[in-house]
Amino acid sequence: MNKKLVIIGAGPAGLPVASQIRKETKDFDITVITDRNYYSYSPCGIPFVVSGMIKSFENLIMRGPKHYKDMNIDIKTNTKAEHIDTEKQIVTTNKGEFNYDTLVIATGVKPFVPNIKGIGLDGIYLMYSLEEAIEVERALKESNSIVIVGAGAIGLEMAYAFRKRNKDVMIIERNPQIMSSILDPDMASIVEEYLESNGVTIFKNAEVTAFEGEKGKVSKVVTTEGEIKTDMVLVSVGVRPNVEVAVESGIERGVTGGIITDACLRVRKNGKFIPNVFACGNCVEVIDGVTFRPSLSFLGSSAVRQALVVAENILGTNSVYAPIVSPGVSIIGELEIGAVGANSKRAIENGIIPKESRAYGLTRARYFPKGEIITVKILVDKSYRLIGSQIISKEGVKGRIDSMSYMISRGVTAHQLALIETSYVPPISSVIDPLTIAARKLIGITRDKFELPESMDNTT
Ligand SMILES: Cc1cc2nc3c(=O)[nH]c(=O)nc-3n(C[C@H](O)[C@H](O)[C@H](O)COP(=O)(O)OP(=O)(O)OC[C@H]3O[C@@H](n4cnc5c(N)ncnc54)[C@H](O)[C@@H]3O)c2cc1C
Repeated sequence: MNKKLVIIGAGPAGLPVASQIRKETKDFDITVITDRNYYSYSPCGIPFVVSGMIKSFENLIMRGPKHYKDMNIDIKTNTKAEHIDTEKQIVTTNKGEFNYDTLVIATGVKPFVPNIKGIGLDGIYLMYSLEEAIEVERALKESNSIVIVGAGAIGLEMAYAFRKRNKDVMIIERNPQIMSSILDPDMASIVEEYLESNGVTIFKNAEVTAFEGEKGKVSKVVTTEGEIKTDMVLVSVGVRPNVEVAVESGIERGVTGGIITDACLRVRKNGKFIPNVFACGNCVEVIDGVTFRPSLSFLGSSAVRQALVVAENILGTNSVYAPIVSPGVSIIGELEIGAVGANSKRAIENGIIPKESRAYGLTRARYFPKGEIITVKILVDKSYRLIGSQIISKEGVKGRIDSMSYMISRGVTAHQLALIETSYVPPISSVIDPLTIAARKLIGITRDKFELPESMDNTT
């Protein structure tokens, strides 16, 4: 008889577990439970639909019901898991009970709802799912001015998207800089200038104290810096692990609020890891590969990688999810903003006093058309081990961030980075990569000591 695999969550973590296992074996009856209507879509594409770059939300749906039916994966939509009995191996939902032999919890995150007077007014959105994005799109047709609360990556991608739709956009950020969880202030200012040059107004050091409305709909945002009239508000002040059903069922969460797991992603209850219950995706507490402390990752890329680890463990391979450095790239208009590892703030919060180096370069040979300036920053600890990097340009960011991800997670030092051989071809690179230049500066090899090639004469 087939074993029963139940997966709670049909996001980028839950569904790949199902698909991966089905590709390998027919020995499981697979049921995926989701409390939403939509599944198998890319949340990461939402800002690009809103901006008009992608035609419709339909385009974000990667696989439809037929695909899963053909794979013999049973997806139960609008079905909310309410309790997990790990002794009897039963998940109770609003639509009945599901027995399991193996369970995967992949419940993702919930947007954080700040306790601000008037937050419940119509016209205030906490867009995170496709359902909410569709609501935002509807509201957009009747809105000319939009206030975004929070200047994180999603808030900023949406700000640019709204500008592309000719809306007046104002961002309220309580911190003295934007993107403060991943960028240092000097790098954030490049993004800020770009947004402002595209017509986005940004208020920093400003806090929202209340939302006011007319006939139940928001019309004004009250802030510490004054009042702003608006037609619509997007609150984008972060997310929290969605662990209600796990915690209610006695599964333990860690200091970060995410579900505690062992390295194979098995959950813990009453101090013991449960062999047949796994968790993966953004609801899970991870280990940070720079600080080696518990942390959270809110990236789709981490969710999918964790899903593969869980699938391999269910299939019998002993697979481990190693500490992570969370490489990420945001695209705001033409600007690519990449970050990996710790920024200065997070390093200091974790007792690491960072040394830093910044360099500029060109993304193509000096004579080649359409080259862009690329700004790179690297951070090291006392022993010159790389701990973080931030890179901004209109091209060439992802590859560099990914190579920095490898170097940071492998404990490479600035001295080693300075010696790394990089390739050169005029249409996509300069002879010496700006990351090499940043490393050389950091370890004290300067122009005075070395005769640098022509291509490096644009360094700071
Ligand atoms: C606008 C936007 C842009 C983004 N851009 C990027 C990007 O460029 N790159 C990147 O790496 N990441 C990006 N992300 C983040 C990425 O989408 C998330 O990291 C990813 O969705 C997390 O996957 P998950 O499966 O862990 O959780 P989720 O996607 O949150 O899925 C959770 C699932 O659990 C279900 N669920 C929860 N509780 C229950 C319950 N009690 N019962 C039944 N079902 C339940 C939900 O219905 C859902 O199916 C973006 C996110 C957004 C919103």
